[in-house]
Amino acid sequence: MEYLTVDVFKAMLNRALEEIAAHEDEFSQLDAVIGDGDHGNAIVTALSAVVKSVSAATEFKSMLNDMGFSVMLETSGSTSTLLGAFFLGMSDCVSGTRLDVAGVKSMFAGGLAGVEKQTPAREGDKTMMDALIPAVTAIQNCNSNDIRELMLRAADAAIQGAKATVQMKANYGRARNYGERSVGYADSGASSWSTMFYAFAQSVMNN
Ligand SMILES: [Mg+2]
Repeated sequence: MEYLTVDVFKAMLNRALEEIAAHEDEFSQLDAVIGDGDHGNAIVTALSAVVKSVSAATEFKSMLNDMGFSVMLETSGSTSTLLGAFFLGMSDCVSGTRLDVAGVKSMFAGGLAGVEKQTPAREGDKTMMDALIPAVTAIQNCNSNDIRELMLRAADAAIQGAKATVQMKANYGRARNYGERSVGYADSGASSWSTMFYAFAQSVMNN
């Protein structure tokens, strides 16, 4: 796949919503170990707002901007703030109706930069950053000219990153209050964000 089109990107997000909704209870159960148990509902609600905002979009910058603002306006809490920042950050770094490999790389780099402005968490802190940072790094480091290959590498890295959170102790957010109790369970946000990248890869493989 040489170019990522707006339609393929919409399909990726629809697939992500389906996959995340299928695992909603699992994300809430993980969140309940060390938090308030609302993550499944929060991420499904946030991604639903994203998907709902895109139907008429024909180019990347305004589509991603609408996605970011929709999720922030329609839902509240850290999940929607981070997801909104991801799409707004992406919007800052794209133009046009289709993206080549360089365009896809800068879109995801922009998404990460947007999220980094919203959270002090970095890799190893047992948050969604443990899925997002490896995924975006894998995209940047991939030398393929096939966008499917970029998304496969991202999904692998995000899934490995989420798995690694099982051994970590939470350092940020409400979860840090539970300290050692967080060890032995994956972070709910890292799990949901890795599921999103898994769904992105699945979707582009079918396009
Ligand atoms: Mg929660």
